[in-house]
Amino acid sequence: YHAKAAGRNNYQFFTQKMNAAASCFELESSLRSALAHNEFELHFQPIIDTGTRRLHSLEVLLRWRRPGVGLVGPDKFIPILEENGLIVPVGEWVIRRACEQSMEWKRQGLKPVPLAVNLSPRQFMHSGLVPAIRRILIDTGIDPALLEFEITETALMQHGEQTLDILGQINAMGIRLSIDDFGTGYSSLAYLKRFPVKKIKIDRAFIKDLERSAEDRAIVAAIIALSDSLQLSVVAEGVETEGHYALLRNGGCQFAQGYLFSQPVPGANAANLLERLP
Ligand code: C2E
Ligand code: MG
Ligand code: MG
Ligand code: MG
Repeated sequence: YHAKAAGRNNYQFFTQKMNAAASCFELESSLRSALAHNEFELHFQPIIDTGTRRLHSLEVLLRWRRPGVGLVGPDKFIPILEENGLIVPVGEWVIRRACEQSMEWKRQGLKPVPLAVNLSPRQFMHSGLVPAIRRILIDTGIDPALLEFEITETALMQHGEQTLDILGQINAMGIRLSIDDFGTGYSSLAYLKRFPVKKIKIDRAFIKDLERSAEDRAIVAAIIALSDSLQLSVVAEGVETEGHYALLRNGGCQFAQGYLFSQPVPGANAANLLERLP
């Protein structure tokens, strides 16, 4: 009886593992064809100027419309793309598509709005990044001032001098750089001085409990003070309540992003957020 039960358990364990491995393999192989099959799409989330509560820019967020499954968020597949290197072509597609979208809005007579595109560590290391960006700027004709890249602290800290060189080249193209998820990586505050960065985004981990936690309020106040004295702009992520918003606005945080204002929306809906040019 025991042997039988153990056998059954082993068998169940084995099939569970097999199923997990199979679905992981399936996920990876369908991701491999997703780009060619046009299954990726961009969503856009407003970043608000806290002074006016009006749109300042849009963050570009990748989604995968997986056949038979529906819309899949980046947390489910970016790590896989990052691991197998597909993030390089997919990331390049994101930059190109974002620039094309910006130009489409321009042709529709909508007010120009800066787009903030996320760059992953692996993309950032790839030697083809700078030439690809240059190519995309030429092909689409976008004003580089309408483009911004978000890079996490962790990505920045990984590759010392090379990082500085790449940031310098991107900056020289007239594209702005910001630090994403600030406060959660291995911060060496020295890099804020060395890198040509214009903006920091306070990670939503510090915003979530802002109304309850004096510690989080102190951390956020310190980040805002630091940004002010280094003349960096500061964005708070994950602003979900009027309480968050009031604390941030009164605390001198210039920009805010979160569900309070809007979820990320598809391009067609994002156009509604943009005003027509007079
Ligand atoms: P992120 O760059 O920090 O983007 C912000 C994430 O927070 C987004 O999740 C957004 O939907 C979510 N968010 C916004 N407001 C709120 C809020 O009020 N409450 C909560 N709980 N969440 C909020 P999303 O779209 O799932 O993206 C997750 C991460 O995936 C991004 O974090 C970014 O690191 C990465 N990612 C997204 N698109 C791309 C891309 O095109 N390329 C690369 N390399 N990474 C991307
Ligand atoms: Mg981001
Ligand atoms: Mg972020
Ligand atoms: Mg994040």
